[in-house]
Amino acid sequence: MYANGKVALVTGAAQGIGRAMVEELLNKGAALAMVDQNRIAGEQCKAVLDEKFGSNRTLFIQCDVTDQEQLRDAFQKTVEHFGRLDILVNNAGVNNEKDWEKTIEVNLISVIRGTYIGLELMNKKNGGQGGVIINISSLAGLTPAAYQPVYSASKHGVIGFTRSIAALASIGNYGVRVNTVCPAFVDTPLLESIDKEENMGEYFQYKDNIKDMMKLFGVLDPSLIAQGLVRLIEDETANGAVMKITTSRGIHFEEFSAHQKTKV
Ligand code: NAD
Repeated sequence: MYANGKVALVTGAAQGIGRAMVEELLNKGAALAMVDQNRIAGEQCKAVLDEKFGSNRTLFIQCDVTDQEQLRDAFQKTVEHFGRLDILVNNAGVNNEKDWEKTIEVNLISVIRGTYIGLELMNKKNGGQGGVIINISSLAGLTPAAYQPVYSASKHGVIGFTRSIAALASIGNYGVRVNTVCPAFVDTPLLESIDKEENMGEYFQYKDNIKDMMKLFGVLDPSLIAQGLVRLIEDETANGAVMKITTSRGIHFEEFSAHQKTKV
């Protein structure tokens, strides 16, 4: 049981998929830092989890992941508080086609930066103790998303970056595994962004097309994404894996040809 007794840092942990992942990691015996920019939701979430797991298992850290200093500080506080870092989940994400640069900043640049900071701490070549990093992408990272082109680009970027770093970590014997999870639609507050012009911009006119897709493909419960995450963390052979989670096929993997695969 890899997660038992380990220390994790989860970004975007206050609600939705992040919150479900926090709960699953606590169930598996990890302690963790919940990093989120939303202090009210983060503190409420921690209060609920404290009743079940005790207050010393989690630390809430308010942080905007796009702010370099705040992000680095969040990692430092985690290590100061818990003494180490073993598991990093770069999960914070937004759907904003109007302020599309922000989507790239949160969904891709902050995931890259978080991965690099995590590697500085965990890479055995830097004196770290090894670990595992999971970057949350989306099915929109593997297929076109006609009404969310920048969201799709950011998530394609997460997959390309994660698989490349996984290959590097393997070649360099970092002792760190790096994987990605690509869920289909998940029942979280993020889906409300589809109904907002301030998020969808010129694609707002297509909101009903997206809702029709949700009806067609169904919407997943966040707990299934948390189960997928834990499976990737526990499977010590998984490196460079692209896990897909859909209503029709559940948890499964994108298959790549032999020369595209990453060794552990
Ligand atoms: P959500 O909106 O419910 O939760 C996202 C959390 O991230 C929030 O607590 C928010 O405060 C936090 N956050 C956003 N920007 C931040 C920032 N700059 N700094 C710190 N925290 C920030 O979304 P969700 O559905 O739980 O999404 C989690 C991840 O899963 C995202 O990367 C998203 O793209 C991905 N995803 C979601 C779906 C879906 O249908 N919900 C599908 C596939 C992938």
